[in-house]
Amino acid sequence: MASPTTTMPAAFLGHGSPMNALETNRYTEAWRAFGSVFGDAVPRPRAILCVSAHWYINATAVTAMAKPKTIHDFFGFPPELFAMQYPAPGMPELVDEIAETVKPTWVGADVDSWGIDHGTWSVLVHAFPEADIPVVQLAIDASKSFDYHFDLGRRLAPLRDDGILIVGSGNIVHNLRAVQFQLGEVGFDWAIRFNEAVRDILTDDPSLIGSMNDSPDYRPAVPTPDHYLPMVYAAGLAAAADEPMTSIVDGYLAGSLSMDAYTVGMPAPKTAT
Ligand code: ZN
Repeated sequence: MASPTTTMPAAFLGHGSPMNALETNRYTEAWRAFGSVFGDAVPRPRAILCVSAHWYINATAVTAMAKPKTIHDFFGFPPELFAMQYPAPGMPELVDEIAETVKPTWVGADVDSWGIDHGTWSVLVHAFPEADIPVVQLAIDASKSFDYHFDLGRRLAPLRDDGILIVGSGNIVHNLRAVQFQLGEVGFDWAIRFNEAVRDILTDDPSLIGSMNDSPDYRPAVPTPDHYLPMVYAAGLAAAADEPMTSIVDGYLAGSLSMDAYTVGMPAPKTAT
């Protein structure tokens, strides 16, 4: 029990292109401002548990290696990006704690397959550039339903009272087949409608996020659930605390991507202007 009197905040960060790891823009500034609160207005976390869009497999598992490797799970990017490392330690003992916390939902231990993927490190290099806080990833089980993921998010909530910072990393609107990069910071009408409807729910009553599954804009906005579900985990955490979420940055890219990020349970961070 690192900080028994403090409940750790939680967050969902829209990570966008892996190039954000190298760049400085209003999204990366918002991630940095988010991270700067820890060790200052909020205690430093004992570990960071990240639910990344890029670990989407047919199992619910948690990384359990002492030294997780930095995974460069992309192609077609410059050598500087492949050279980046995020040498945060792991925390193998956290697996048992997580497994106990979410019972009877089953969570396995991954001792040698995964590590820290770019969904995690592209945001953490900005939020926690020192890479000195242990990082553990939770896989998103692609075989499970929306209700399973939302419920598992809720079940993770007690970890917030034990010094664990839980971060979802994905994108609420993420349709790579529809992207038109020449459009720049623009969203298609359906992307804006869907993204704003999600925002209305998250900032009012995150427990209602399941209603977005019935939106006529769900299919183009969420053609596959991998980037959407990290937000659902964060919404589950907020719902468990019966708290609304706070938007820390928002925006669109290439028509069919939204870059919105949200926190719950923390003092208002210094947002980029
Ligand atoms: Zn991604």
